Amino acid sequence: MSAETNCIFCKIVAGQIPAKKAYEDEELLAFHDIHPWAPVHVLVIPRQHIATLTEVGTEHEALLGRMLGLAPRLMKELGVTNGFRTVINTGRDGGQEVYHLHMHVMGGPRPWLKG
Ligand code: AMP
Ligand code: ZN
Repeated sequence: MSAETNCIFCKIVAGQIPAKKAYEDEELLAFHDIHPWAPVHVLVIPRQHIATLTEVGTEHEALLGRMLGLAPRLMKELGVTNGFRTVINTGRDGGQEVYHLHMHVMGGPRPWLKG
């Protein structure tokens, strides 16, 4: 497991920066976005530092599957009953701000009207 010194999400994984956690296991962590765009807005990240979706290879397919598979379970647990959005911003043109792979999962009433 690699930790990038200046990566804010690696610091959350390491417990050096607080986060409101929604889920964790040996591979994944989910926590509430600090600037939510929707009533329920969590970020699902791998513990392992992968900068961006363009860096994933076939060895990461199971991990990506687990990230996506967690989304509906998390939303159900957080009381989201009417659907949600999953978003991965990738690279500069994709609007990525934090270069540690993360999937936004946004639920609650009409999340697309925010952010
Ligand atoms: P992106 O544009 O996809 O890279 O989004 C990065 C997201 O990380 C933004 O929605 C930020 O609000 C969120 N974020 C940045 N720092 C933190 C933090 N310390 N805790 C929780 N969310 C954060
Ligand atoms: Zn990182």
